[in-house]
Amino acid sequence: MNEARLWTSTDGIVECQLCNHYCRIREGKKGVCQVRKNVGGQLYSLNYGKLIAAHIDPIEKKPLYHFLPGSHSYSIAATGCNLRCSWCQNWDISQLSDRNDPDRLPFTSPEEVVKAAVQSDCKSISYTYTEPTIFYEYARDVSVLARQAGLRNVWVSNGYMSGQMLDEYLTLMDAINVDIKAFDERVHHKFTGAHLQPILDNCRMLKKAGVWLEVTTLLIPGINDSPEQVEGLAKFIVNELGKDTPWHISRYFPQPQFREIPATTPETIENALKIGKESGLKYVYAGNLGRNEDTNCPVCGELLVARSSLWLTGKKIEEGACPKCGTKITGVWE
Ligand code: SF4
Repeated sequence: MNEARLWTSTDGIVECQLCNHYCRIREGKKGVCQVRKNVGGQLYSLNYGKLIAAHIDPIEKKPLYHFLPGSHSYSIAATGCNLRCSWCQNWDISQLSDRNDPDRLPFTSPEEVVKAAVQSDCKSISYTYTEPTIFYEYARDVSVLARQAGLRNVWVSNGYMSGQMLDEYLTLMDAINVDIKAFDERVHHKFTGAHLQPILDNCRMLKKAGVWLEVTTLLIPGINDSPEQVEGLAKFIVNELGKDTPWHISRYFPQPQFREIPATTPETIENALKIGKESGLKYVYAGNLGRNEDTNCPVCGELLVARSSLWLTGKKIEEGACPKCGTKITGVWE
């Protein structure tokens, strides 16, 4: 149990300022994420260093397609999440249970994580699988050491962190993939327990700060796949984040806790890709579909980065540009 950052206390009641829930937590109680607890009027992180997952992944798995393609990223997660997405694909580690209780997990120091990343020739450390915001103190300590070791820091997030957290951490963050789960406040709140607007505001802030940003949306039949939502989100990305922002549109497959919804059809994904392109986005990718994963030059159509099932199979971008027509391809390529 480590003392948390970003909180205030009044008359023994703690307000956690790490994410946009801004939980007010009474003595002995925990916040929505279940991994931050008020003990004696002070806030503690219960999952510091208690990793539930550590893997070496291709960066394409995050997914990040315009950030060091073909590199490996040392990917870690601690238990817990500040959202309750009914369709979560990592439910078994994002939601607390006896099996993944942080008290029962061994401690891994930040030094050990960075050492393992360097030894496995990774170019970055990814804070992923669950929500990195809720293991912020640990991610921050690892991030400082990672930078000293020449590694980049990558977040895969629901984007619900507070402005205070971003203010404190932005200079350590190199890239982020934000999963915007629906483009309708009522739907977003009903199925995740979180509001949409702070996530959109954070995306704007991340872009403005120069963090490399890609967006993901898991399209779920009957929930977030209406033309209005898809078009609204595409236009938000074009107008607020820029046409060069990559958008990953993924197929949903039924999860044990959310069986009643069928898998997203390939046609639905193809339609969404079309809407994204017609809205002006230069880079729109399909996830879990087995095609539409490549990067082509938006001007001459030349194949620049070829991928197959999240693995890089070819790359011919030269100094950040298309070798055929010279068009600049936005991203972090080296
Ligand atoms: S991180 Fe978010 S959900 Fe967890 S205690 Fe803090 S405000 Fe609440």
